[in-house]
Amino acid sequence: MAYVINDECISCGACVSGCPVEAISEGASHMEINADVCVDCGACASVCPVGAPNPQ
Ligand code: SF4
Ligand code: SF4
Repeated sequence: MAYVINDECISCGACVSGCPVEAISEGASHMEINADVCVDCGACASVCPVGAPNPQ
């Protein structure tokens, strides 16, 4: 299980520093989560202003 950032992401960066395992980085069109690193904590979803990160 991992969270995935959808196309609603505006690349504000708020989730990057909030991730305890540094799983979030800038992707081709918006921030992306490395599914192999994500520990499914939900911190990114709680800080995101547009609700882009969601559990898969
Ligand atoms: Fe990082 Fe937690 Fe979001 Fe996974 S769910 S990307 S571990 S903040
Ligand atoms: Fe994108 Fe939300 Fe992260 Fe901002 S907090 S970079 S809008 S996923």
